[in-house]
Amino acid sequence: MRTQWIAIRTLHSAVKGLDERVEGMQVYALGTHRVVLPPNRHHFRRVIPCLRCGGDMVEHRVPLRHPQDLTQPHHSQLCTRCSQVD
Ligand SMILES: [Zn+2]
Repeated sequence: MRTQWIAIRTLHSAVKGLDERVEGMQVYALGTHRVVLPPNRHHFRRVIPCLRCGGDMVEHRVPLRHPQDLTQPHHSQLCTRCSQVD
């Protein structure tokens, strides 16, 4: 939908760079959320807590396509370090 597409473009101008990195990627503040923009991707991903250790990680496989995606509950996932333990 055209309105949503415009909204996504606004996302890019609404983000603010933070002095933080998660999984080697620059973290941006988007309102109260923290997001990253993976290399060669057009959609931001949320920074979420790891299910096991609570550390910052990028929510994989869930690109933010619409601003309302930010308000959806995130999918619990394990960070790289925790997923290697098993
Ligand atoms: Zn972890």
